Amino acid sequence: MSASDLTGLTLKGALDALAEKRVSAVELAQAHIDAIAVANPHLNAYVLETPDKALEMARASDDRRARGEAGPLDGASLGIKDLFATKGVRSTAGSKIIGEFIPPYESTVTANLWRDGAVMLGKLNMDEFAMGSSNETSAFGPVVNPWKTRGSNQPLTPGGSSGGSAAAVAADLCLGATASDTGGSIRQPAAFTGTVGIKPTYGRCSRYGIVAFASSLDQAGPIAKTVEDAAILLRSMAGHDAKDSTSLDVETPDFTSFLGKSPKGLRIGVPKEYRIDGMPDEVAKLWDQGVEWLKAAGCEIKTVSLPHTKYALPAYYIIAPAEASSNLARYDGMRFGLRELGNGTLTDVYEQSRAKGFGEEVKRRILIGTYVLSAGYYDAYYLKAQKVRQRIADDFDAVFQEVDALLTPTAPSAAFALGDRVSDPVAMYLNDVFTVTVNLAGLPGISIPAGVDAGGLPLGLQLIGRALDEGTLFTLGGVVEQAAAFRAKPERWW
Ligand code: GLN
Repeated sequence: MSASDLTGLTLKGALDALAEKRVSAVELAQAHIDAIAVANPHLNAYVLETPDKALEMARASDDRRARGEAGPLDGASLGIKDLFATKGVRSTAGSKIIGEFIPPYESTVTANLWRDGAVMLGKLNMDEFAMGSSNETSAFGPVVNPWKTRGSNQPLTPGGSSGGSAAAVAADLCLGATASDTGGSIRQPAAFTGTVGIKPTYGRCSRYGIVAFASSLDQAGPIAKTVEDAAILLRSMAGHDAKDSTSLDVETPDFTSFLGKSPKGLRIGVPKEYRIDGMPDEVAKLWDQGVEWLKAAGCEIKTVSLPHTKYALPAYYIIAPAEASSNLARYDGMRFGLRELGNGTLTDVYEQSRAKGFGEEVKRRILIGTYVLSAGYYDAYYLKAQKVRQRIADDFDAVFQEVDALLTPTAPSAAFALGDRVSDPVAMYLNDVFTVTVNLAGLPGISIPAGVDAGGLPLGLQLIGRALDEGTLFTLGGVVEQAAAFRAKPERWW
């Protein structure tokens, strides 16, 4: 197979080719390393390339396979969001304050991938501390979306915060990638790049070794080329972990077994509050089309109400910054990365290190977070937001008595131009209007590429499921994927 045939494979296709000895893990890794070397100066998807490590892991994988000891992901070349601690490999969370930090330990999710035989190509760009929707808050500069609007040369955002993961998968710079989602950071970039992303149920994947943003919302998950690939990756990533007290002690099913199951009789809710003012026609149309596809597959469609939806975004932008302000207190110039000595007093080291080490958006979140937690404002903001959060979870509980899953758009628009919304945080936060509810309620959500807008840019549909019912999302996701027959790839300009 030629190098571009290799990078063009799906994860499943590559695993089959490896099993049938049509390709070696080393060849697969080398093809990706070469593709990254060409593309990365243009796309900026990787903040660290680890070709030597990739080849070493690939050689070990080929040896295992020769001995008949190959694991479920053996030889699969993956990219890792730079939020995951990787032992001996610089992990920055997209921030200057973590600097050149080299973790002496491995995150559980990545350890699970290596246990199953996967190969690491490098660390992927992201918004600083995963705060953002466009990858523009990264200390390493923005990622450029491999997609362009037809007839235009303007660089577009791949979405955020997992922009590097989404761009790398879309541009065939890895077979799949890890990502994380606190308010939409797996699903929105997946929608912006024509890839599949699933945020599993809170607690499905361990948070151990993942740089914390908002601990009660953060969840890891994969970004992949197909629904099946996402199912394969999630199975390896998930699992109980004693090192994370919120990790759920439940069996991890074989998620691929839900693909191809009949969706007949499944009841799908269409939440009326998600039809927001100003929703572009194309997004609304694709949503209607999605309903038709599921109906044609034998699902029953119901309009449902999630009455507290309009409070989700404000509640999220109180709770997430509150938790972030607490989590980020540890970056004080003493323990990690950057240290600015200032005038040499302890207070000045703290102040100067934090002033120089954090970017604008992170500072904004810390200020909001400390404000909403401060005496006098705590009840009015933080406590109120917590109550709203419970109401939102109750809304979902109520509709899941009547339906088995919900269908919504993933994001209110297709990818927008880099630079378009950086100066308007509220416009940026509006990107998350369909995704934050799912994190607030701890539910699983998947984004499937389902169509393109008038300019040829991908659009995603989101399916939301009951807690721990990722299986139904894979069944329905497979149906949408097949019906949409979305095979468009970005035209190569890099
Ligand atoms: N865009 C949202 C934020 O900036 C979500 C980010 C995420 O999911 N990590 O908070």
